[in-house]
Amino acid sequence: MSTIKLVQTVSELRKELEQWRDKTVGLVPTMGYLHQGHESLLKKAREESSCVVLSIFVNPLQFGANEDIDIYPRDIEQDIAVAKKSGVDIIFFPTENEIYLKKPLLEIHIPKITSSLCGASRPGHFEGVALVVTKLFNMVSPNRAYFGEKDAQQVAVIKQLVCDLSFHIDIVTCPTYREDDGLAMSSRNVYLTKAERKEATILSSALREVKELLKRGSFSTALEINQYVVRKIQEKPLAEIVYVETLTYPELEEVTELYSKKMIVAIAVRFGKTRLIDNLIF
Ligand code: AMP
Repeated sequence: MSTIKLVQTVSELRKELEQWRDKTVGLVPTMGYLHQGHESLLKKAREESSCVVLSIFVNPLQFGANEDIDIYPRDIEQDIAVAKKSGVDIIFFPTENEIYLKKPLLEIHIPKITSSLCGASRPGHFEGVALVVTKLFNMVSPNRAYFGEKDAQQVAVIKQLVCDLSFHIDIVTCPTYREDDGLAMSSRNVYLTKAERKEATILSSALREVKELLKRGSFSTALEINQYVVRKIQEKPLAEIVYVETLTYPELEEVTELYSKKMIVAIAVRFGKTRLIDNLIF
C-alpha cells in the first residue's frame, strides 16, 4: 500500500492522480467527521479500486440559510486516522475558495426527482449537491464513485446526473450502516441529547416493522404505510415529523399499486435541532 497523500488544491490532486491514470480510481465524496457508514464505503472502494480518493468538503451550497453549516461537526485529524486505517490513497480536503473561487452561475435542477422528500423540505439542497458532485467528478475523473443508500434521494439525483451528463463513472450504492440498536449512522447523531438519542431508534424500528408487515401483505395502499409510520413516530414526544412518504424508487413518483414496482418508504424526523432521515427500499 502506498502512503496516504493529503492534498488541498486541484492542481496537487491532478498531479497525484497522474500515476494512477491507467488504473481504477474510486471516489468516496464526504463532508468528513467520518463514522463507520463512511468506512463501509471506503472499504468497498478499497476492494474494487487501485486508487481510493476520499474527498472531505462541507459544501456550503447544499445548506439552507437556517441550517447547521456553522456547527456541522469537523475533525480532520480523526478523519485522517480513519482514512489511513481504511487504506485511502489520497485525501482531497479543499478549501471553499478552491472549489468556488468564482461564484458558480450554473444551476443544476432535476425537478422530477427533487420536488419531493428532502428536495421539498430543503430547497436548493440537491442543486448544491449536484453541482459539487459534478465538480468533484471533473476534478478526480474516477471510474467509480461510492454513495450510501441512507441518502437514497441523493443516489437517485446522482444517477440521473451521470446519465444526463454522460459521465463515464459507475455509481456504487452501499447499504445503510447502523448502530447496534438500529439508528442509521450519521455525522449529525452527535447533536442528539441523551433523551433524543433514545427516541431516535423509532425511525429504524418503524421501518423494520413496515418491512415485516409488507412481507405478510398487510398493507394495500401507500397511504396505509405512511399512516402506520406516522402513528409509530407520534408515540415519541420529542419527535417532530418532517415527512413520511412512500414513493416509487428511483423515479420518486406516486405509488398507484403496491408491490408492482420498487418502492421507498422515506422518513425525515426532527429531534430538537437534529434532523434525521432513514428509508426502506423494497
Ligand atoms: P456525508 O458525509 O454525510 O455527506 O456522507 C457521505 C457519504 O456517506 C454519502 O454517500 C452518504 O450517503 C454516506 N453515508 C452516510 N451515512 C451512512 C450510513 N450510515 N451508511 C452508509 N452510508 C452512509
